[in-house]
Amino acid sequence: MTRRPGYPTYGKRFIGNTNTTEVHDLDNEKIGPNECQIDEIIQAGHAATFEPDTLAQAHSEGYDNCSFCIGGSTR
Ligand SMILES: [Zn+2]
Repeated sequence: MTRRPGYPTYGKRFIGNTNTTEVHDLDNEKIGPNECQIDEIIQAGHAATFEPDTLAQAHSEGYDNCSFCIGGSTR
């Protein structure tokens, strides 16, 4: 899978889960069971984007790395 155009992710690379405050890198999305679950995040209405679309911006908003697509989780 990859970036998704249109609402609510608009083709952005970094997508936050507002429920878990984890950030995912859609250019490295992992689609196994219990991995990124991007479609589930979107369907649950928990997808957030960042402006600018960078990992640093996600961190500045309090998001932690997904251990599957980014790694280096601090939780
Ligand atoms: Zn992920």
